[in-house]
Amino acid sequence: MSSFFSDSGCLICHGDFPLENGICSQCLSSMDFTPEILGENYDFLSDVYITFLYQNLTQEWIQKMKFQEGKYLAKIFGNFMTESLLLQGGHRKIDAIAYVPMTKNKERIRGYNQGKLLAEEIGRNLNIPILHVLKKKRENKDQIGLTGQERTENVRDVFSCEENLEGRRILLVDDVFTTGATLSSCGKVLMESGAEEVFGLVIAKALYTKKGDE
Ligand SMILES: [Zn+2]
Repeated sequence: MSSFFSDSGCLICHGDFPLENGICSQCLSSMDFTPEILGENYDFLSDVYITFLYQNLTQEWIQKMKFQEGKYLAKIFGNFMTESLLLQGGHRKIDAIAYVPMTKNKERIRGYNQGKLLAEEIGRNLNIPILHVLKKKRENKDQIGLTGQERTENVRDVFSCEENLEGRRILLVDDVFTTGATLSSCGKVLMESGAEEVFGLVIAKALYTKKGDE
């Protein structure tokens, strides 16, 4: 794994003595690295792989990644997501990587889509191609504060795909997984475009509460 990482101090706090993955032990222990496969069944998704729990430093950094000065964090998270996938053997089940899209307008305002950055990092690490096939047709409400049912409704029919994905086994990348509504909605579109199987890989799993973040 060490080849993915730089050796010039901790990537997060820039302190000395980074471990082989580029993060010092103090930062790493604040991040709750917990690679696992979510046990439940989610519509249109085979396994969903998580990397961290959405709390503490991880939560803070995921928020920070959405602003220009935190853009560099996508590389760090992408490397840990790669590690999570490798540890769980998920890389053997896929032949392409897709990501949850943003509307053109929102991506233009932010300057980048963090999900795309994560996907590109993982694709580079594993030498697996990225599919820029999912589009977000319109802006929807923020998922924060919605019930599980409302979350599903809120992301219904907001994504589209024009490509034929026949036979593809696709890893779908996103930042935070709460109820799975967003990933399932994207998974549906990919499966309807012919994909053979869709897997999920996220930075972190959030505990679902009505006021939860997604
Ligand atoms: Zn550190």
